[in-house]
Parts: sequence; structure tokens; C-alpha cells
Amino acid sequence: MSREIEHSDDEWRSLLTTERFRILRRGGTEPAFANAYWDNRDEGEYHCGACGALLFQSRDKFDSGTGWPSFARPVGEGAVEEHTDASLGMVRTEVVCARCGGHLGHVFGDGPPPSHKRYCMNSGALTFEPSQTPH
Ligand SMILES: [Zn+2]
Repeated sequence: MSREIEHSDDEWRSLLTTERFRILRRGGTEPAFANAYWDNRDEGEYHCGACGALLFQSRDKFDSGTGWPSFARPVGEGAVEEHTDASLGMVRTEVVCARCGGHLGHVFGDGPPPSHKRYCMNSGALTFEPSQTPH
């Protein structure tokens, strides 16, 4: 599949920290409650930790109690792609950055209305940029 941003593993390794590479390029998961943004309530935007694409906004973030940053929806159509993931003996829906294909986390169907979706993301796959003007 062709993407707007493409690099070899060696290139990604040199571009990303070890932890970001493990999550974004190897589908790794960080520990709950021990990551940067699970409890971040600041206003701002969440960008892809690999390519910088805007993916989520703080207004869609909610406290899921899971210990991972959770969003009701991505910033817009086409920001992320969703794929069936049958690893680890579970059938889940993997969420990747549409621009670079980086693994972000999974989406579940137990979120708040009206979307009822819970985008369960890895902080290490994201970069938070606080709003310039506080609300
Ligand atoms: Zn990306």
C-alpha cells in the first residue's frame, strides 16, 4: 500500500525513539496509567508521533478509566485507518495513522454517545500540542 509518508524500518529507527518505534512500527502497547497523556486534560491537539499528522483533539478526549488516552472520534474523516487485528487471540480493530501507517492503538465499541466509540491510543504514538489560546 502506498502512503504519503513512507520509510524503511532502518529509516524509522533513526527517526523515532526506541519506545516510539516499538509502538508505532511494531504494534507495541505501553503500560496503562504509566504513559504521558492518559490523564492529560489540557486543551490542544494530538498529532501522530511519527509523521506529525493531526489525529485527535482534546475536546473528543474522555476519561475511560483504562489508563490510556481515549477519544470518542478522530479529528476528521480519513485521519486514521481501521483494520481487523486478530493477534493475541482476540479480534480487535487496530487504528493506524492514515498518513504514515503508524500503529496508534485500537478502537472499541463501548465509548460514550453519540459515537459509542472508544479510540484507545498509546501516548507514545502521539505528540500533544497545547492550544495557543486557552478556552
Ligand atoms: Zn503518522
